[in-house]
Amino acid sequence: MDAVVFDDFGSSRVADVQTPSPASDEVLVEVARVQLSVTECFLYQGAEIIHYDSVACRLQNQDTQLFGHEFCGRIIETGDEVTEFKTGERVYAPGKIHCGTCSYCCSGYENLCPDTVGIGYDRPGALAEYVSLPTDPLCAFPDAVSDAEGAALQPMASSLLCTLDADISPGDTVVVLGAGVMGFQCAMSAKRFGAGTVFVADVRTQPLEIAADYGLNPIDATKENPVEVILEMTDNLGADVVFEAVGGEQNHATKGDDPLSQAFEAVRRGGTILQVGHIVDEIELTPSVARSKAVRWVNPQKGYTSVAPGTDTGELAAELVADGDVPIAEFVTHELSGLESFEAAVDITLNKETHGALGPAQIVLN
Ligand SMILES: [Zn+2]
Repeated sequence: MDAVVFDDFGSSRVADVQTPSPASDEVLVEVARVQLSVTECFLYQGAEIIHYDSVACRLQNQDTQLFGHEFCGRIIETGDEVTEFKTGERVYAPGKIHCGTCSYCCSGYENLCPDTVGIGYDRPGALAEYVSLPTDPLCAFPDAVSDAEGAALQPMASSLLCTLDADISPGDTVVVLGAGVMGFQCAMSAKRFGAGTVFVADVRTQPLEIAADYGLNPIDATKENPVEVILEMTDNLGADVVFEAVGGEQNHATKGDDPLSQAFEAVRRGGTILQVGHIVDEIELTPSVARSKAVRWVNPQKGYTSVAPGTDTGELAAELVADGDVPIAEFVTHELSGLESFEAAVDITLNKETHGALGPAQIVLN
């Protein structure tokens, strides 16, 4: 089969590799689409961020297969022991593969498992015609979800996990700083779970227009200070829940303002800050600020399907998309054909504004 293979950071090509054969507890998936994540693109460039060590280790092998954890495809073969999936079903992988034996896994808290296997980092992912995976991280999705949406479901499942962890109460005033893919998904999920007014702040016009189209309240951070707007709209109380969905180097969605500081200023006493974005650098945080307002600053593990025993954000994410509650297709703006377009997809995903992209690029295989 064809697969994107890697010899070093920044060096890739499409090569003919052995088609995987599923083990008894695995299924073989014919990949329909794969969507790059920003993390994968940064890792490809050699950034020393999450998963760097496993990627560096894998790169010591020739022609190693990396990346491709955001994908969807059709099951074409099942291992002998597989009972929960049938051939023909379309699946995606909302989370990582957890160990299944540690005390967290055994008590239903797989989201806290310290010994996970990352698809595309610790083992080959879906930047290939076929991928063989254990059933554990897979989730089937209904016909009402397109392949473009299916390949974009993984971050949606993580957004949902963040929203569930925020414990939204009916009527809550919610603020989302950063209206990118996950920010928008958190905002729409919060609304779906009963939030009252939902504000989204960003410096880019297009995401704010989409937010307004879906009944969210846009704040153009190039013109207004989001903190001042929120305090004014809440009689100086502050918001019940603030999602910090900028992450990264803390500057691109708010023009250099530190969105985490803004979150602490915009949240009410006793409110919740949900950390959606991964903050890359060191930040200054004064404990007394959190203490004086009794703020709950929640840092959920993402890439998992549960927040507590019995929860499954994988299925719920697909359901909310199928029902139209969270329109994730809005952010699929760039669809490229074939694995050869990997480099172009990296460029688009890392330079969305230059390319007029809203979300990461998707590569269409079948
Ligand atoms: Zn475990």
